[in-house]
Order: sequence, then structure tokens, then C-alpha cells
Amino acid sequence: MRPLPSAGPHLDRLIRRDQLDAVRASLRQALPINMLLGLASFLVAVHSGHGALGAAWFAASTLVNLLRLWLCRTPCPGLAMAPDEAPSSEAAARSIDRHLRLACLAGLLSGSVWAFLPILCAGYTSEQTLFYLTVTCGITAGAVMHGIAYARIPICFVAPPLFSVAVCLLAAGGFDRICLAATVLLYFVALVRSSIATERGFRETSRLKNEATALAEARRAAHASASALAEEMRGRAMHDGLTGLLNRAGFVQRLEERRAQGEAVCLMMLDLDGFKSVNDVYGHGTGDRVLREVARRIRAALPITCDAARLGGDEFAIVYDTLHTVENPAALADRLIRTVAEPFESFDAGRVGVSIGICDVTVDSLTHLLSCADEALYAAKHSGRNRFHLFDEVLSRRLEMRRDCERCLSQALAENALQVWFQPIFGRGGRSVTSLEALVRWHHPVHGWVPPADLIAAAAMAGLTESLLRFILEQVCAMLCTLRERGMSDLSVAMNVSPREMAQIAVDEIVLERLRALGVPTTRLEIEITEETALDIEAVQGKLLALSRAGIRMALDDFGTGYSSLASLRQLRADRVKIDRSLVTGLSEAEDKRGLVQAVLGLGRALGLEVIAEGVETADDLSTLQAMGCPFMQGYHLGRPQPADDILRILDAQAETARQLRFGA
Ligand code: C2E
Ligand code: CA
Ligand code: CA
Repeated sequence: MRPLPSAGPHLDRLIRRDQLDAVRASLRQALPINMLLGLASFLVAVHSGHGALGAAWFAASTLVNLLRLWLCRTPCPGLAMAPDEAPSSEAAARSIDRHLRLACLAGLLSGSVWAFLPILCAGYTSEQTLFYLTVTCGITAGAVMHGIAYARIPICFVAPPLFSVAVCLLAAGGFDRICLAATVLLYFVALVRSSIATERGFRETSRLKNEATALAEARRAAHASASALAEEMRGRAMHDGLTGLLNRAGFVQRLEERRAQGEAVCLMMLDLDGFKSVNDVYGHGTGDRVLREVARRIRAALPITCDAARLGGDEFAIVYDTLHTVENPAALADRLIRTVAEPFESFDAGRVGVSIGICDVTVDSLTHLLSCADEALYAAKHSGRNRFHLFDEVLSRRLEMRRDCERCLSQALAENALQVWFQPIFGRGGRSVTSLEALVRWHHPVHGWVPPADLIAAAAMAGLTESLLRFILEQVCAMLCTLRERGMSDLSVAMNVSPREMAQIAVDEIVLERLRALGVPTTRLEIEITEETALDIEAVQGKLLALSRAGIRMALDDFGTGYSSLASLRQLRADRVKIDRSLVTGLSEAEDKRGLVQAVLGLGRALGLEVIAEGVETADDLSTLQAMGCPFMQGYHLGRPQPADDILRILDAQAETARQLRFGA
């Protein structure tokens, strides 16, 4: 920003420049008059018989005037700058001073020529004296009138002719002439004073003008820099610091703008596959590099009209107008998947993939659009790595179902419309029931049976996570009490608690308080938990520790699905592992699955963990597991999840058979 020229050389230079500017302008006006008066003097000289002298004088006068005109037009570096710009360099400032000095000199020269007028009128004694005196007075007064900007020029100009008048008058002698000479000198003094005063006035006006200009400029600059700052801050608030892409707020704003402009919006939600392992194995620094590189690849793969954002973590999003993009969403998604999956050349971070959910249908609101794309992403994630999924009718119905569930859940809980079913878990190689797994069930009046995962998600959206957990716990405790009453105290019951529930609510306090209140031993309750990619296990470790210390057994569910690891076993304080059914179902025909199950069984033995195989669907799978020495099993072949009454009937029957066997024995 330019400094305010309050005082000092900076302001002085600006004023000097104004002075030179004004001097040049006034000279351009005054010199033609000077020439006309010169011409008149020459004509009078010719008329009075002094043609030769007159011509010589007029030639000299014209020459000097031409010199002065030329000086006015000579370029001056200090004047070449913009009007509000001070001649910043010393050289520019010096050029102005030099031009002013030259103008003084030229003025003095011109004045000197006029000082020779007496040669045309015999030293102001001839008949033409009156004419020449009047001309001299006129031209000197005119010089002062025009030379308001820089006093030295009119002073230099008027001094020689007036002194020459005075000297000639004195030389001619006589009272009148002496008095006139004195008057001329007085007149000279008055002209000098007037010149100085007008220059002072001019400089003051120039100062005020320059200060005002600088003030206006400073305000403009301040405004511009404030606007730039505001713009930068707006940019920062809208962009992700790590990748430079839009952030969530910026993206939502762009989405809104695009929708408001009536664009046929296509929204893509991207979620990296395998990013958690990058962070775990290579550290967060490498994780950040991966995110930056992925962001760069996404941006490079997209047409310029697309907006890309990092919504947080390893989630990205893209929006564009389908009407103005030739490539269809599926082709674009395919290209994005391929570019992200390429290995990183400049650093070691393994490979990551990306799952993409796409929504290119017109929906009523932004929130709805976002949930549609999320739904598609969820479906893509579940179909494996590096897949994309378009939001379709099936997902639309599912989303609608979830929303309805969210709306009705509170009432359903209040009316006890939800149930908890139990699935038997068999011990002793699948020969007798040793525990039950509690599985929540809800038959929605419109949508029918709601998958538990959707129910849990709906509860989270409706803020009913704790109510749902308390409801399930109540049914589990009721089952434990019934089992105790029927003399089956050796059976335990497992309830599922998602890591999210564990993180959101005080599961440990709620569970322990209820068991204590009902007098149910903690050892009869089991908690099954899965590890989720997005969840910070360390955050829930305190609760897990409290539960485990109180005697509740912990089981790591869905072991082998990709996320769970040996580290999870330790972190989750697991006593049991449940081999995911994807590894168990069809085991008898798949050698690779057998190898994996065998490995988990070995791990269980080595770490003193109980191993349960879930998803036993056929007699072949059962016998294969038995042959492998699997201690615990669960699956449709052995027993499906059933309402409490039905399961109790089965248990009663099992107890009866056992009694008969004992009795028989
Ligand atoms: P999970 O904990 O792995 O539960 C086992 C799931 O596999 C149950 O599905 C069960 O019905 C099913 N299943 C059991 N045996 C077989 C079989 O032989 N073949 C096949 N194909 N499936 C079998 P469900 O009840 O639909 O539950 C799905 C998931 O929802 C559960 O997986 C669990 O993660 C979650 N879930 C269920 N109930 C609850 C609950 O009360 N709370 C929480 N937090 N999650 C629950
Ligand atoms: Ca389970
Ligand atoms: Ca499971």
C-alpha cells in the first residue's frame, strides 16, 4: 500500500510535479500572447523607422519563445507517471527540478530579450515610449498572472525588463521619470510578492489535492486488501487444507448452487478401500501422502467442469452436470477406480482402492441426494473393493424403508413391537446347545422384516440407540432369568453390540447395572463385537475393560472379514472368536476356506481362545468342522434364530432327552 504523503520529500515531489505540470500548461497559453506582443512591438519599430533593429529584436524574441515552447514539450521522466503516483525514484524527482530550473533560465532569457526594448524607443524617450512602457507593464503583469505555480519563473522573466525600464528612466532624468522609475521598482516588488503568494497558494492546493488523492488511494487499497483477505478466508473455509479440494462445507455450497441453477446433478461418493491399513502399517505421514496423491489423481481424471471434494478421512465426493458431460457416470467411475488403484511410484504405501456410490437421479432435497449417494456407496462397499454402484430402485426402496423405520422406531419400541430372537450355539462339536445368540427382529407393518443392520442404523439416526440397546438387554436378561428358573443356568446368552453403540453410549454401566439389579451373574452374558474400519477402538477400550473385568465374556464377531486382526483380539479383550460365515458356509467343498478355518482354530488353541464357526448350513460343513476339531458351531443347519418361546421349547426338549439318556444309562 502506498504511504500517505503527510509530509516530507514524498509529498514535496508530488507538489513539484504539479508545479511543473502547471508551469508547462500556463506557458503554452502565455507564449502566443508573448509572441503577439513581440510582433506588435516589431511593427511599431518598423513604423517608427527602426525596422532593422526591430527585426533583430523580434527574431531574438521569437527564438527564445520557440526555445521555451520546445522546453515545454521535452519529455520529463517525473511527469510520465500516473497522476496519483509520486515520482518515486530520485532520478525522476531530479528531472522535475531540472526542468523547473531550465524553465526559470528560459524565462530569464526571454525577460532579457524584453529588457532590450529600449533600443527601439531610444531608452524610453521617443514618441513610442508610451506604447513600449504599456507593453512592458502588460507582459510582466501577464507573466505573473500566468505564472502562479512557480514564482521564480515570473520573477526571472519580469526582473530584466522592469530593471531596464527603471535604469533607462533614471538615465533620462527629470522628476517625472525618476518618480516613474521608482514606481516601476515598486511595481516589481509587488509582482514579486504576488508571485510568491500565489505560488504558496498553489502549493497548498496541490498539497491538499495530493493528500486527498492519497487518502482515497489508501482507502481503496485498504478496501482491496480487506476484500482479498476476506476472499482468501472464504477460500480456506471452503477448502480442505491437506488436498486443496473443496471441503464438506464448500462442497455442499457448490451442490446447492448447481441445483439452484437447474443442473442435472450427478453426485458421486468415494470411499477408499484399505486406507486404514496404510495408516496402521506405514504411519499417518504416509497416509496423508496417499490422500494427497489420490486427490491429485481424482482431480486429474475429472473434466474441468466437475467439482471434487474431500469430505473428511478417506471420503471424497464429486459432483457434475450430466447434461454437459459426455462421459456417462459408470464410465467415469470406472476410470476413477482404475486411476486410484494404480501403485504409488514415488513412495511405499501398498495399494489402495476406491468404492464409489453414484446418484444421478433427480431428488427433492439436498439431504435426500446425499443419502441416496451414501446408500449407493454402502452397496458398493459391500460388494467388495474397487466397485461402483448406481443408486437404483432397489436402493431407493431400501432407503425409503430406512427412513420409515427411523420415523416409526420410537413408537415401535414404546409398543413392544420389536422382538429378540435367539439362535442356539452348539458346543461339544455341535452336539449340545451351550449358549444363545440374541438377534433383534422387527416386522415393520409396511416393509416386513427389517434387517438388523438397517434397524441399528435407523436407531442411530433417530437418536434411539440407547433405548434400543436397553430393550434388547431387557429381553436378554429375561431369557437369562427364564433359563435360571428352568434349571439351565449353565447356558449363557450373547448379545451383539456394534462398535458404534459401544462408542456412543455407556454400555458398560447400563449392562452391569441391569445384571446387578436382576441378580444375574455377569459370567452368563457375552458381548459380541465387530471391529469397524472407521472406529477408533482405543476410544472404547475403557468400556471393554470394565465389562471384561466384571466377568462378561467378549467375542470378536465376523473374524476373517478383513478388518479384524490379531491386534483387534487383544484390543477388544476377546475370550472367543467367531469365524465369519463367509469362511464357513460351503467349507466342505473349498480347500482355501478349510485352510483358513484350520489356521483360526490353531490360533484359538495357541491363544487360549474359544473358536465358534458361524454359518454352518449343511451336514457336510458340520462333519468337516467336527473332523477339524472345531469346538463351537452355529448355523441354520443346527438351529435357526427363533422367538424365545420356540427356543425354550427346543431347550426343554434337549434337557428332556439328556435326562432320558441319563435315566436310560
Ligand atoms: P451376526 O452377529 O454375525 O449374526 C449372525 C447372523 O447370521 C444373523 O443374521 C443370523 O440370522 C445369521 N445366520 C445364522 N446362521 C446362519 C447360517 O447358517 N447361514 C446364514 N446365511 N446366516 C446365518 P441377522 O439376525 O440378520 O443379523 C445380522 C447382523 O446384524 C448380525 O450379524 C449382527 O451383526 C447384527 N445384529 C443382529 N442383532 C443385533 C442386535 O441385537 N444388536 C446389534 N448391535 N447388532 C445386531
Ligand atoms: Ca453376532
Ligand atoms: Ca457374525
